[in-house]
Amino acid sequence: MSAPIRPQPGILDIALYQGGQSVLEGHAEPLKLSSNENPFGPSPAALRAMAAALGDSHRYPSTDHATLRAAIAEVHGLDADRIICGTGSDEIIHLLCQAYVGEGLEVMHTEHGFAMYRISALAAGATPVEVPERDRVVDVGAILDRAGPETRLVFIANPANPTATFLPMDALTRLADGLPETCVLVLDGAYAEFAEGYDGGKALVEARQNVVMMRTFSKAYGLGGLRVGYGYAPRDIIDVLNRIRGPFNLSGVALAGAEAAVRDLDWVAKCLQDNAEERARLTGGLRQLGIACDESFANFVLARFADEAEALAADAFLKRHGIIVRHPKNYGFPQALRITVGRPEDNSRVLDALASFK
Ligand code: PMP
Repeated sequence: MSAPIRPQPGILDIALYQGGQSVLEGHAEPLKLSSNENPFGPSPAALRAMAAALGDSHRYPSTDHATLRAAIAEVHGLDADRIICGTGSDEIIHLLCQAYVGEGLEVMHTEHGFAMYRISALAAGATPVEVPERDRVVDVGAILDRAGPETRLVFIANPANPTATFLPMDALTRLADGLPETCVLVLDGAYAEFAEGYDGGKALVEARQNVVMMRTFSKAYGLGGLRVGYGYAPRDIIDVLNRIRGPFNLSGVALAGAEAAVRDLDWVAKCLQDNAEERARLTGGLRQLGIACDESFANFVLARFADEAEALAADAFLKRHGIIVRHPKNYGFPQALRITVGRPEDNSRVLDALASFK
């Protein structure tokens, strides 16, 4: 008789991911505002670059991503040698956990932290630790109180998901200053572009040996389907992550599309401008309807209802009107709906529907 086949401890504590709904019964083309995607799509230059790269699909792609790293470095004023590209920032989170934690070590994230932090921590055999927020904002004091010698990674999404709140640089600096040197602070900048004037915390990465910044092409750049993200870190950390990365993790099409996207500054600027105007209109409109909503620093808003029952009723009502938003109950927000900022006509549709719901 063969021995029972068992996964590593911790793996079966991971719930299967259940987000990303895009189909709605009875609606041929539902309005999808549930995954914080760019409603205007990819830059036309990126689309052309991807089409041109398709013909090389019989070839394996570049393993060192040199051209894409050089473009990112040039546009954002970074050192190309300290950039690592991954299949979405999801892969960078995974690589960090594989490299730096294991049994007996902790990965810290905030109360409503992004799901991948916990998944990757458990997959590495480590213990995920959730630290409470204060009024939906990351609580630096609570993190520093809880962090100990076994805490090796702290993930902070800034702006945060699903709360859309923002932690200014002085608070991030206080956090970096207070953590043990053996702990890596990871600044997840998936939504960094949407917070005006914020560069993802670059100065902290430049000044320390234990701070990493992550960015993605999935949000502001409108390339969620392409799966490209990157990390910016001290040289030693980049070296470690490159050793465990699959050599061909990014396709040639993805590399070409991301490079054209990062260079198309006008397209991103236009999308960001539109997002800022529309997010203010959506926030104001929700508040006028009596739905609580913090100021958003991202491309989505968190609409807080009286209780879970009302949030579920609003969710069902929106679905009947062909609109898909996210009910972030798995993030600990059963009384809220997370709504991606869409095109002007999309946001009007959401506000009109919620007005008739109310
Ligand atoms: N971090 C945060 C906070 C996110 O919300 C997301 C995507 N929803 C990611 C990281 C991962 O994005 P991607 O893998 O597409 O780069």
